[in-house]
Amino acid sequence: MHTNSIIELNNTAYQKNLSFLRNTFGKKVEISCVVKGNAYGHGVTAMVSMAYHNGITHFSVFDVEEAKVVKAKLEDKATIMVMGLVQDEDMEWVINNNVEFFVFDKGRLTKAAKTAKKLRKKAIIHLEVETGMNRTGFEKNELNTVIGFLKKEKEHVFLKGLCTHYAGAESIANYYRVDKQIKRFEDIYQYLCENELKPEIKHSACSAASIMFPQTRMDMVRIGIIQYGLWPSPEVFVYYLSTKKNKTDPLQRVITWKSKVMSIKKVKIGEFIGYGTSFLAERNMTVATIPIGYSHGYSRSLSNQGRVLINGHRCIVVGSVNMNMMTVDVTHLESVKKDNEVVLIGSQNDISISVASFSDYSNQLNYELLTRISKTIPRKTIE
Ligand SMILES: *Cc1c(COP(=O)(O)O)cnc(C)c1O
Repeated sequence: MHTNSIIELNNTAYQKNLSFLRNTFGKKVEISCVVKGNAYGHGVTAMVSMAYHNGITHFSVFDVEEAKVVKAKLEDKATIMVMGLVQDEDMEWVINNNVEFFVFDKGRLTKAAKTAKKLRKKAIIHLEVETGMNRTGFEKNELNTVIGFLKKEKEHVFLKGLCTHYAGAESIANYYRVDKQIKRFEDIYQYLCENELKPEIKHSACSAASIMFPQTRMDMVRIGIIQYGLWPSPEVFVYYLSTKKNKTDPLQRVITWKSKVMSIKKVKIGEFIGYGTSFLAERNMTVATIPIGYSHGYSRSLSNQGRVLINGHRCIVVGSVNMNMMTVDVTHLESVKKDNEVVLIGSQNDISISVASFSDYSNQLNYELLTRISKTIPRKTIE
């Protein structure tokens, strides 16, 4: 494991976010903690144990590899739901371990039934239906076949949930499309019930939908970005504020990413810094080298733009972000020494570098920046 930097998860911030979510949704709505993409870069293992200790017992992942990481940490203490890929060769493991999974095509449905029969164990499925996202989900004209199949195979396949996913609930521009999806989803649910195939629960909301469209909360919400203390988009934040008298942000960033100054050097006026000629010193400068680069997930697009905190001051990246290193301008700091703390995301004294600020510099989404942070960086939970 490399030691160039460390990621800390703040348990107090996480508790704040969870209590905001619980107060907003009420007791009847279960929160499924979405930990795909290495828990949005936070680290699956550290994240699920923190969530579990705060009362979360439902986790959503993208694929079986991630499901196995959650299982290794929490064993049978939590429900695991795979929203995306289950390879044929993993179906036995999934069913044997009571891992729940989305089913969105006939191939997977028959594979689930066949494997369950062989193992003499029920497959626990969430039927994903197409409502307008056009990614995965059964089409309307397939429903009768699916209903027939599920009734015939009810000894082997348990219809735990009915679900769908919205095509961009974080943006008002998609309001009409999402609204149509909600109606279609309700119609499909009714249709199943009329055909005596009532799923135990129905769920559809991601973070943005859960705030912008309260009717999408249903029995369970699949919450990713918000629990990590970040808004899905500025629009969702503005919308939330517009509905409240008290205009304060209820969310707190859970992640902090820190490193240390590796070395310091003086650069004379007129010299270029780093590869090529992208940065020209227009005065005598002092620069600090940080052992973080794009191989750790610090995007090269932050060259000459990114900011870090050292000794309580903002310092700008000068020159290009390299594979394992970058240089920052520390000319304005009184004294900088090797091993001084460097904050890439987080706070020092009263100032902070937010995750959102990255997108201002580099057009990266919150989501993208976080999931790119290297898995090999150690994760630690703090109070
Ligand atoms: C990623 C994902 C979510 C969670 O999305 P957030 O915007 O992070 O809350 C919910 N449902 C599905 C199907 C997803 O893929």
